[in-house]
Amino acid sequence: MKKNDALKKLKSAQTGIDKIRLFTPGPVPMSARTLAIGASQLPYNRTEQFSHITFEIIEGLKYIFGTQRDVVIFAASGTGAMEAVFFNFLDQSDKVLIVNGGTFGQRWVDLCTHHKIPFEQISLNPGQPISLEALDYKLSSQEYSTLLINAHETSTGILYDTKAIGKLTRKYGVFFIVDAISTICADIFMMDEWHVDVSLLSSQKALALPPGLSFLALNKKAKSRLKTKTCQSYYFDIKTYLENQGRGQMPFTPVIGHFMMLHERLREIRLQGIDFFVSHHSKLAEYFRKGLKSLPFTFVPNNPSNALTAIRCPEDIDAFDLVTRLAADFNCFVAPNGGDLKHKVFRVSHLGEQNKTDIDFLINALEDTFHNLLDSNSTYTI
Ligand SMILES: *Cc1c(COP(=O)(O)O)cnc(C)c1O
Repeated sequence: MKKNDALKKLKSAQTGIDKIRLFTPGPVPMSARTLAIGASQLPYNRTEQFSHITFEIIEGLKYIFGTQRDVVIFAASGTGAMEAVFFNFLDQSDKVLIVNGGTFGQRWVDLCTHHKIPFEQISLNPGQPISLEALDYKLSSQEYSTLLINAHETSTGILYDTKAIGKLTRKYGVFFIVDAISTICADIFMMDEWHVDVSLLSSQKALALPPGLSFLALNKKAKSRLKTKTCQSYYFDIKTYLENQGRGQMPFTPVIGHFMMLHERLREIRLQGIDFFVSHHSKLAEYFRKGLKSLPFTFVPNNPSNALTAIRCPEDIDAFDLVTRLAADFNCFVAPNGGDLKHKVFRVSHLGEQNKTDIDFLINALEDTFHNLLDSNSTYTI
């Protein structure tokens, strides 16, 4: 690219925050409607009207989780809901099996370690699927009380077969907890049908809301488990939430502004149907993956989610440099990876308010940056 062009691009990128393009798996671009609600005055929450809104929110959440049972709402990011699992459902008498295929599998491991819950993990390489045979064999030992997975490992883009795994946990009577935080509304997820006992979601992924709310759905089996464990937290005691939500109220001051945005968002989703949303994400993901064919990238997993594409760079391209330059030159944010993958892999999210024009912009920016990086590499090596 000529210097002039580069300057022009740089200038256009600096024309303001509204030009920011987010392809990150949280935060995600939000709709004008959501933004407008976010800019409005808050209603008082201890009223009948607000209880009514809360009831409708809970109904909407049950719909997207695919459950007839209960959902509780926390003022916390997704990790808060993950930790609520420990406070409410697990103790030292449990033996937990964890599927660890990346950053979010590792978070389950870290939480087990922190809360001193006995566990074992199945460690997978980036993008490696779970072997159902191996899992069946492990669970058949009857050694484990509980299985913890992430439906979608957001650090590598792999979508696990939660339905098939649910058949195994049911077969062996193992308590099944699924972090579906980056799955619900982007890929199919059916809590009740798939025999999931507890599942989690947060606001800043496919719901396309600001971060700050997380949701925990629990079935009958999970609800009765609450009675056998002593909750280790005052704030995250699910029993308190269930009690208060029964009258449309939260035990503590809710994130009222987020409730208003969530209420509208769930109304839209119910109106159009969740299948529409899943297929929308699938189309965006497919459009992006096809558009990227002209560049020598490879995809990390064979079974990618609709939420995100994890991309491996060729040897001579540094993934982290690419991510940094996209932000600096185009105000375009994709997600870097951490740890061993930092210089090899980056991720493009398909979540939130984005369309084909945004994806075209990103693909052009990627092509440009890619060739610039190649050019500058060859200058050094000659
Ligand atoms: C985003 C995400 C989380 C939650 O992370 P927070 O930063 O606490 O919101 C947990 N699990 C998965 C799979 C995620 O994608």
